[in-house]
Amino acid sequence: MPDTLTHNMFVEQPFQTTVQRNACLDGIGLHSGRFVRMVICPAPASTGIKFCRTDVNRQLQTVIAHASYAQRARLCTRIMNNDGITLETIEHLMAAFSGVGLDNAIIQIDSSEAPILDGSSQPLLESLTNAGLEILPAKRKYMIVTKPVEVRLECGAWARLEPAKKLQIDVEIEFEDSAIGAQKYSYTHRDGSFAAEIAYARTFCQLRDVELMHNAGLALGGSLNNAIVVNNGEILNKGGLRDEREFVKHKVLDCLGDLFLIGMPVKTKMTTFRPGHALSLQLVQTLLNDPTAYRIVGALNEYGQSDNFVIPDRAAASMA
Ligand SMILES: [Zn+2]
Repeated sequence: MPDTLTHNMFVEQPFQTTVQRNACLDGIGLHSGRFVRMVICPAPASTGIKFCRTDVNRQLQTVIAHASYAQRARLCTRIMNNDGITLETIEHLMAAFSGVGLDNAIIQIDSSEAPILDGSSQPLLESLTNAGLEILPAKRKYMIVTKPVEVRLECGAWARLEPAKKLQIDVEIEFEDSAIGAQKYSYTHRDGSFAAEIAYARTFCQLRDVELMHNAGLALGGSLNNAIVVNNGEILNKGGLRDEREFVKHKVLDCLGDLFLIGMPVKTKMTTFRPGHALSLQLVQTLLNDPTAYRIVGALNEYGQSDNFVIPDRAAASMA
């Protein structure tokens, strides 16, 4: 039943996926404020997520979205290839890929920063839905976390991974500004859950940070069109919030994106207090640096399927 395989149904099936056709997205970069053109293109199985910087020399263009190429950056997730070519603010894009169950894509982009769009993953979700996903004749690999891994920062923020059957992300935040305050959310990654619960949650900041960021040359493209801005207990965006827990849900979105830098879907429970990209990245790198803390399994083991696999939609068609 190929028609029923919508974007909502690619998370929990065992085969690798790619986009059916190019998905084009234009917009401004949050930090640079420059116009960015981006095209998400189909890629063969086991390509993973690769960025192709079309504004630099052909030999230097490829930047792989993997934790081993990720760097600490202020307020965003940045990756850098061996030639020093970087790409910033990829987290909402990575969250959308993980959210819809997209394993393989080549993303052509003419800037060092992904477009911020509306500050959430919603426009990406819609674009990927329009492009459609396609199942490839290769099984997925999964990372299974086999023992707890934890990181703590001096500021009191912490994050922990532990064994679980599905990906679950539990986030707690605590902000001085009463417009945000303390919020908790527990997210389980299933078919459709990203679109229903998380994708629309926008990034946010406090008004006083906007000035600090501008002085540091950051967030030059930031506006009420691509972030929730709060000031002394007030939300400055005209339409208010999209969801009363939009702040904490956005943090879940960021964690989901950063976890996808593992390079494959992961089965674990992540629990975190006051998360941020530096913390999530440190957590992922701590996990990957300890081979006794994880196992990589094929979908074969997880789903008990035979080696002579059949692509599910063709199987359904032949039974009709
Ligand atoms: Zn974010």
